[in-house]
Amino acid sequence: MVTRTRNIVIVGGGTAGWLTAGIIAARHRSRIPHDFTVTLVESPNVPIIGVGEGTWPTLRSTLKKIGVSETDLFRECDASFKQGALFAKWATGAEDDAYYHPLMLPQGFAQLNLVPHWLKGDRGKSFCDAVCAQGKICDDGLAPKAITTPEYEGAANYAYHLDAGKFAPFLQRHCCEKLGVRHILADVRNVTLAETGDIRSIVTEQAGEIDGDLFVDCTGFRSLLLGETLGVPFKECGDVLFCDTALAVQVPYESEASPIPSQTISTAQSAGWIWDIGLPTRRGTGHVFSSRHISDDEAERELRAYLGAAGRDLPVRKIKIRSGHRETFWKRNCVAVGLAAGFMEPLESSAIVLIELSAKMIAEQMPACREVMDVIAARFNATTQYRWGRIIDFLKLHYALTKRTDSQFWRDNVLPETIPERLRELLLLWKYQSPWFHDEFDRIDEVFPAASYQYVLYGMGFRTEVEPQAIAGEARLAERVMRENAVQTDRLRTGLPRHRDLIRKIVDHGL
Ligand code: FAD
Repeated sequence: MVTRTRNIVIVGGGTAGWLTAGIIAARHRSRIPHDFTVTLVESPNVPIIGVGEGTWPTLRSTLKKIGVSETDLFRECDASFKQGALFAKWATGAEDDAYYHPLMLPQGFAQLNLVPHWLKGDRGKSFCDAVCAQGKICDDGLAPKAITTPEYEGAANYAYHLDAGKFAPFLQRHCCEKLGVRHILADVRNVTLAETGDIRSIVTEQAGEIDGDLFVDCTGFRSLLLGETLGVPFKECGDVLFCDTALAVQVPYESEASPIPSQTISTAQSAGWIWDIGLPTRRGTGHVFSSRHISDDEAERELRAYLGAAGRDLPVRKIKIRSGHRETFWKRNCVAVGLAAGFMEPLESSAIVLIELSAKMIAEQMPACREVMDVIAARFNATTQYRWGRIIDFLKLHYALTKRTDSQFWRDNVLPETIPERLRELLLLWKYQSPWFHDEFDRIDEVFPAASYQYVLYGMGFRTEVEPQAIAGEARLAERVMRENAVQTDRLRTGLPRHRDLIRKIVDHGL
């Protein structure tokens, strides 16, 4: 007998649970509730992690698709615009050592690779400024769009910074009121298995037994279904990415008119880095560090020194991080999304985007019945494995290129045995050709495109050998494209509103 997939049970009500619920329910809306149900079970006693304030531009299309209003997001989640990340003191540690990883692609990116032309030129400008306007827009404290620009569209590419504690309840309201998701507040105490080894039901303290055809494990670091119940092992990657602890602190602004940066500021420290995210009502900051290289007390001292008077006496929350991911992500009729699947330090906001991509794949490839579930699971596992691999490579790239030698942490980070083999190969290749579409960055829904590697490599001072003859044919086109970028930069710098002013307008009048 064919067992149709009709009842989806998501366990966990953090960002992963609610985004997954929204993405699946929106995709299958016409079948809900007569032919298909999405139920989210969430503990009333285990709090969500409540951090995770930096996102990726994919969130715009995700929210639009599930029917969320962008204005409501700004009003209810204390959101601001994110236009990229500024990495300070990563390359040399000097006071003026900083570069942008913006969210805009280099000018003319689909047409030609500007890297060799920029390298060959006089380099009066950073790579970012030579090929894209966004670094200057961020320096000027400007927003990526005007109040007249429609929802989810922008003059410059953007994502959001948002209050993670408000985002999950915001999604919850939308999912339950607009998308027909059932919400059950209950603690899962037991999981029952069928003879086949599939999960048959979850047994809760407050709401009894709940059956399902497909279970989505969004229980956070605990990984209650996939890890604890089905025994899928965790694959550590602490030998590549050393940071294993975070100290988080929320900091008030000096005044209600203080500028709000639209870039995540990541400042390297002696054994990790500090994130600094500007929301409209406060800053979210934290120190992510390697406890093998520095004690909690020293890490807190570095964080307080960074914050200065603004951080005096503010409480610090400690969060242990386990860097790595499950060996497989979908086993039998259970798939893990979010922290239950894995986590890497939040250097490039890769967690929420991976939640979106995973949920999208589950929703789009929803197995019609149990008989085909293993085929879909194998695909999902291969794609997700690939994505985690690329995220590890990309995060390690930020460390592997450092010239800092001022602490054991930075010296250890460049040891060849700590650099994944694929990244070592690419670094060798990139000495002679710059990252481009051939480097396998052409998969659909690639988390980080070749442009991201270019921004980090050349921001960190990496050099690729350029054969002038090899690029001579494109020289005039490259010149024109860089000129166009300069014109566009001037136009945007004079036309865009200040970041805080635009957010105030959105909250008061809507987009
Ligand atoms: P959680 O928020 O932990 O939710 C787990 C859910 O499971 C809760 O609802 C809980 O009640 C439920 N649950 C647990 N046990 C049971 C049970 N027995 N019965 C019923 N329910 C149960 N990501 C980014 O993309 N950008 C960032 O900038 C970023 N920064 C981060 C900074 C830090 C320091 C950390 C640690 C993470 C950061 N992340 C970031 C990751 C991001 O916070 C998470 O990926 C995201 O919040 C999703 O979490 P989650 O929903 O998987 O888990």
